Amino acid sequence: MVARRSARRVLLVLMLALVLPTLTVPAQAGTPSAHRDPGYVEHGATAAAAGTAHSPVAAHGVNHRGGDREGYPRRTELRVFPTDAGDKAVKLGLLPYHDLAPALNDLQARSDRVSAEVIGQSTLGRDLYLVTVTAPETPEQARQQDRWRERIENDPAAAAKDSRLARDYKAPVWINANIHGDEWEGTDGAMRVIEDLATTTDPAEVRLLDSTRVYFTVTNNPDGRVAGTRANAAGFDVNRDHITSTQPESKAVRDVVIGTQPLVMLDEHGYTGTTLIEPGTPPHGQNYEYDLYLKHAYENALGMEKAIAELGHPETARADIPFRDFPPGEWDDWPPIFTPMYAIYHGAVGHTVEVPLRVNRTEYDTLPVEELRRRSAINTDVAAATISAGIAYAEDNRRELIADQIEVFRRGWEGESQREIPDGYVPGFGEEDRYSAEFPRAYVIPAGTAQRSAPAAARLVDHLVANDVRVTRAKHAFRLSGRNHAAGSYVVDMRQPKRGLANVILADGKDISADVPRMYDISGWSHGLLWGATVDASRSQAPKVRTTPVPAASPTGSVDAPRGKDLALRVVDGKDVQAVNFLAGQDIALHRRDDGTVLVPASARRQVETAAERFGVRFTRAGPGERGTPLPAPVVAASASADELFVLRELGFDVRPVSTQALEDGFDLTEVGTLFVSAGLSYTGLSDAARGRLDDFLADGGVVTRGAAGATFNEEAGLLPVTTVAGRSDANGVVAVSGVQGVLGGAAPEHSFVYSPLWFTELGEGVVAEQRYGEGNPLVAGHWLPGDDGNGPAQAAGEASVVSGVAGARTVLFGTEPLFRGHPKGLYGHVAQALYWTAAG
Ligand SMILES: [Zn+2]
Repeated sequence: MVARRSARRVLLVLMLALVLPTLTVPAQAGTPSAHRDPGYVEHGATAAAAGTAHSPVAAHGVNHRGGDREGYPRRTELRVFPTDAGDKAVKLGLLPYHDLAPALNDLQARSDRVSAEVIGQSTLGRDLYLVTVTAPETPEQARQQDRWRERIENDPAAAAKDSRLARDYKAPVWINANIHGDEWEGTDGAMRVIEDLATTTDPAEVRLLDSTRVYFTVTNNPDGRVAGTRANAAGFDVNRDHITSTQPESKAVRDVVIGTQPLVMLDEHGYTGTTLIEPGTPPHGQNYEYDLYLKHAYENALGMEKAIAELGHPETARADIPFRDFPPGEWDDWPPIFTPMYAIYHGAVGHTVEVPLRVNRTEYDTLPVEELRRRSAINTDVAAATISAGIAYAEDNRRELIADQIEVFRRGWEGESQREIPDGYVPGFGEEDRYSAEFPRAYVIPAGTAQRSAPAAARLVDHLVANDVRVTRAKHAFRLSGRNHAAGSYVVDMRQPKRGLANVILADGKDISADVPRMYDISGWSHGLLWGATVDASRSQAPKVRTTPVPAASPTGSVDAPRGKDLALRVVDGKDVQAVNFLAGQDIALHRRDDGTVLVPASARRQVETAAERFGVRFTRAGPGERGTPLPAPVVAASASADELFVLRELGFDVRPVSTQALEDGFDLTEVGTLFVSAGLSYTGLSDAARGRLDDFLADGGVVTRGAAGATFNEEAGLLPVTTVAGRSDANGVVAVSGVQGVLGGAAPEHSFVYSPLWFTELGEGVVAEQRYGEGNPLVAGHWLPGDDGNGPAQAAGEASVVSGVAGARTVLFGTEPLFRGHPKGLYGHVAQALYWTAAG
């Protein structure tokens, strides 16, 4: 994980070259979480697998999950995947993916302490395994454990007084391994511990399984494991995807942490030279009950450090514990995008663990095999030792861990303040470690005219529910903190067990630029500001309205127009874009007005009704006025990062990856409506012939760019006359922006997201500012310091963040990051308007 800062952007063209030729996984049913958000998941999941042949190679075995009525063991004969001699683990002497199912099937046959289940499939369709190791339980005993787990969350006051629970509730411990595919040994360490626990005759270890359930997701990224890539097969870093949940691999472990409610969890990574064990450095996640986390995290880390020292390898004599050993900002626990940081919000004491010795990337290709295997053997020892030490900590401190998880949820239900933590609470705790939040009393996601986007509101509600945040729906209109809310509005009462998670999702966040000199990864997010829905906060007044619990958002699609009349759709959200692209893909003659509204002929009523239902969008009767310009199904040639390709496909565009090399190889631009450039395409790097073909396209084709590589392309191709100014490359977060009446229509978000922000000055003839950074300090939440050249947020204030113009090609330049990792969903509509407008040239 050491390259958290680098390697975010992996071109899908590279991914395709690396991954797809080796694909030999059996056909498999769709992703199990698809029901949560059919439109988005469907497009994303199929995009990654597009063009791959489903292998007829037989996998055998069946998955017969018995559901909640079963005890333990829950034996599942796992299907066995074909032997893959190219699996990158083989060279390291580690377990290739295809050996996992046979090993687990064997252990289940040999031991009544081991249960294996399939909890989902990877992007390429490989099974994700959850292995549970515990002493056998009757169905009634398992049900009792379930009841206690639910009591801890739902009625912590009663749980705190329940002496049987304190005595007999089995400590849940969760080990996640190999979320980064080319950090292998967590899997091998986990398998070693599973086998040890399954077969041991040591009375103490046998007793441990009477009081503990240990859950292992033995590889969270099997596609990356096989291919030797950090990312999954869609090019996403799964360990940046929590609270966004675009990928099947992150959704699967999200559901594991919710379902198992671990007291302790470890996420096994590599390779930091010295073994690294969290807790992390400031800034600390401000929504945590950090006192309850830190006291255990610190002690558990010391125990793991001791365990690796006892291995006796010179390389494992000590560990780096960032909280103890690093300066602020070097290894923070601020964003909830990492698995352990996310798990803390579900009541776990979460740790990232990094095994020490590098065996991936250059080392993988250049070191002698025996040296690689020596290193991997030590790394496996470290993984196993930390796992065993973490389990031992949970057993030794079981009652206090249970009591403290109960206390986390109790504070939430009671609406109590976070605790002040005194200096020296653990060694080294001081002022620099104090981060806290004032939780609002409630959030409201309004219904009716107060809601800017009904489908965006529904998506946000479903996302909250999927993350185990409690949402209710108002049965009648009500007034709260000076605002009137319609019946049907959604209410998030913050008196709830996982209020920290609710707040980290919905709150604006905080500008932490002055707190630490740098950050490890992103510093701002906010679904409340970036996901396209109106979200109101009530700071102190409690909602007084009858509500019903919400298991899923209510349908939002409608066609509000008489039959026989032309229809209109305001394109604001990505859901609207999906509907437009769905209709355009059926050869329906769409038109786009200058305000961004899309018109559909009355004759397409049936398809419109389908689109309204499928994407939850609202069509109205087309008003009088001009029809606008024809809007054909837009073909987008994209030289972009993997996350951008993923989102563009998810939105239903016909996306064709392109690059400098692809243009050299004769890439066909004749059907392309717009060229999207953000990475991997150098205008000056092209031969004269290839550049000539591109120039022919640029004479009237459309161009949309994002970021520095896009701005360079604009300059070298001589498109829009602007000066591009760059902020510090690690600056990132949520920024205030203001829309102006440009050519991109009405989809004008009030906030945007930046990473390496750009702005445009000295706008030449005909260049229009479509959007500007807010005045004063545009940074709302995140970390953005001035660079060496003095350019910081104050210099960006008021300057253009998005510009448009016609330079032969209709062109739009984004200085923001509207598609970043599939997160800022409320910005997709603006990007789509840019694609539609530029394609119409
Ligand atoms: Zn990692």
